[in-house]
Amino acid sequence: MARIIDGTEVARTVLRDATRRAALLKERGVTPGLAVVLVGDDPASATYVRMKERDCAEAGVQTFDHRFPADISQTELDAVIDRCNEDPDVHGILVQMPLPGHLDAEATIARIDPDKDVDGFHPANLGRLVRGLDAPRACTPWGVMKMLEYYGVRIEGADAVVIGRSTIVGKPMALMLLEANATVTVCHSRTRDLAKVCRQADILIAAVGRPRMVTAEYVKPGAVVIDVGINRTDAGLVGDVDFEAVEPLASAITPVPGGVGPMTRAMLVANTIDSATAATSDVGGA
Ligand code: NAD
Repeated sequence: MARIIDGTEVARTVLRDATRRAALLKERGVTPGLAVVLVGDDPASATYVRMKERDCAEAGVQTFDHRFPADISQTELDAVIDRCNEDPDVHGILVQMPLPGHLDAEATIARIDPDKDVDGFHPANLGRLVRGLDAPRACTPWGVMKMLEYYGVRIEGADAVVIGRSTIVGKPMALMLLEANATVTVCHSRTRDLAKVCRQADILIAAVGRPRMVTAEYVKPGAVVIDVGINRTDAGLVGDVDFEAVEPLASAITPVPGGVGPMTRAMLVANTIDSATAATSDVGGA
């Protein structure tokens, strides 16, 4: 039986540390602040934002709500981002994705001050990750790294396979594992004999968006399996991994829900506090 990697527990420890750091900043007269930009009325996005704001409130991070109807123009959205960039009380800016189709998500992300890009999506911050430099890290893969660390999973020298090559999960995940000295293979929709490649993995990360795609034939006995997928089905929320089939084979596995999801939110809070801390030190050093 696999060890269950409890994302809720690890997120609690991350948030506890974040709360302590936020309190230290407050003693210095700084309240960490996150601007939350939500466009349109997608219920899933509204739920994510609500949960993120709740985590922020618990940790002592104030949030500034910017909600707009779906027909906001790019010019108006740009002006909001510009104001948040200038606002000294805002240390992090979250633009909840996806944006409605008429808006340019790439341009919006690129407009965010990289120092306030607590989602870690800005090209400058992804570039810094490639170069192994300090920068806000994309919350989901960064949360996965924290979970692996918390559970003492040996990454150095391990064969890691990431299924998915998106800019927000798969690619930064692969780079973070590489930085931690894993031997990394990235799979995607055109990969040949996916199950065979995945069976090489000591650490298997599924970030695809296909319910229960990863079955027992994808998993080497003893592998650590991390399920990033969140799929809404008639049977409720399920991951990309067929948990019941894979759990008896794996040495450790994340559940859905209660795995990667809470970590993503916790890392957003941690990144916001990092950003507030850096901004405060800049002032002190001036
Ligand atoms: P995406 O659609 O941008 O990328 C999916 C990737 O999967 C692509 O790179 C594609 O090549 C690959 N893929 C698609 N079909 C495949 C197949 N049959 N075989 C192999 N690879 C295939 O998705 P994303 O934004 O990276 O998200 C992936 C999943 O993770 C989704 O379920 C999403 O909801 C979830 N997610 C969860 C969190 C969290 O906090 N837990 C955060 C972000 C995304």
